[in-house]
Amino acid sequence: MSTDNHSPTMVACPTCGGPSVFAPSNKFRPFCSQRCRQIDLGAWANEEFRVPAQTPPEDAPFGDPKTEP
Ligand SMILES: [Zn+2]
Repeated sequence: MSTDNHSPTMVACPTCGGPSVFAPSNKFRPFCSQRCRQIDLGAWANEEFRVPAQTPPEDAPFGDPKTEP
């Protein structure tokens, strides 16, 4: 007997590449687990915070601001 027509949709977890249930029962989809979801979000956050903190050296104003009347 074949009762295999009720298998959930399986996708590859973006984090670990393992099988993940792509169904409402899996609230971490498309991730396989909360751990993988957190890892992915953490990676995103790290990329977001990777802002080049390099101020331009041209900080010399035109003229002298101390010569104000
Ligand atoms: Zn995973």
